[in-house]
Amino acid sequence: MVRTPEQKRPVLIFHGIGTPRRALEPGEAVFWISRAAFCDILDRIVAMGDHAPEITFDDGNASDAEIALPELEKRGLRAMFFLLSARIGQPGSLSEADVRSLAAAGHVIGLHGAVHRDWRGLDATGRQAEFRDARHRLTDLSGAPVTRAAAPFGLYDRGVRAALQDEGFAALYTSDRGQARDTRFLRPRNCIEAGMSEAALTNALTGHVPLARHPRRALGLIRKRLLPARRAT
Ligand SMILES: [Zn+2]
Repeated sequence: MVRTPEQKRPVLIFHGIGTPRRALEPGEAVFWISRAAFCDILDRIVAMGDHAPEITFDDGNASDAEIALPELEKRGLRAMFFLLSARIGQPGSLSEADVRSLAAAGHVIGLHGAVHRDWRGLDATGRQAEFRDARHRLTDLSGAPVTRAAAPFGLYDRGVRAALQDEGFAALYTSDRGQARDTRFLRPRNCIEAGMSEAALTNALTGHVPLARHPRRALGLIRKRLLPARRAT
């Protein structure tokens, strides 16, 4: 089945798989899952057929190439990898050769910035580093245009959105849960975490937002999408 651009579908975010080989940021450990859990989720995705979610990875951990790439290949799955230009070649992160391998295998390379910082309130120097310079490096390595961005920590506001649109990006991937459409600039994603309950995992795989979360999610979306952008500090 070919999806039409208006059709909604869920999008997943993975971060690290296996044992991290770099110092984690505060609160990051929950985004690392075991290889077995990862493989189990991939098998479930394959079994979902036409309703399968899209797969994305953030942060450019070495496990993207060491574990995810071969497991995706085994199952004929394609994914998007949102990378941090300044981490490429650092211990525990993807090497330049890894980025080339991901692109050569047909996966999409997207922008997660340079150094993993909040994009809200970036000044001109910050935008140059996080959007333009980082994008140039990823374009050079992948050999393909980089047209999609994912905001670090899922944080964005109207200013971030406008700046990315000015830079000519086609989409901003968020962590807002729910389902995404190809015709929309903002594409919500569903985060995979360690120790998720069966219900939480099913919700992520299907992009279902439990009713209890609706009010808080709606307020968050209003804050991020409608309120004025933060000033640069
Ligand atoms: Zn990130």
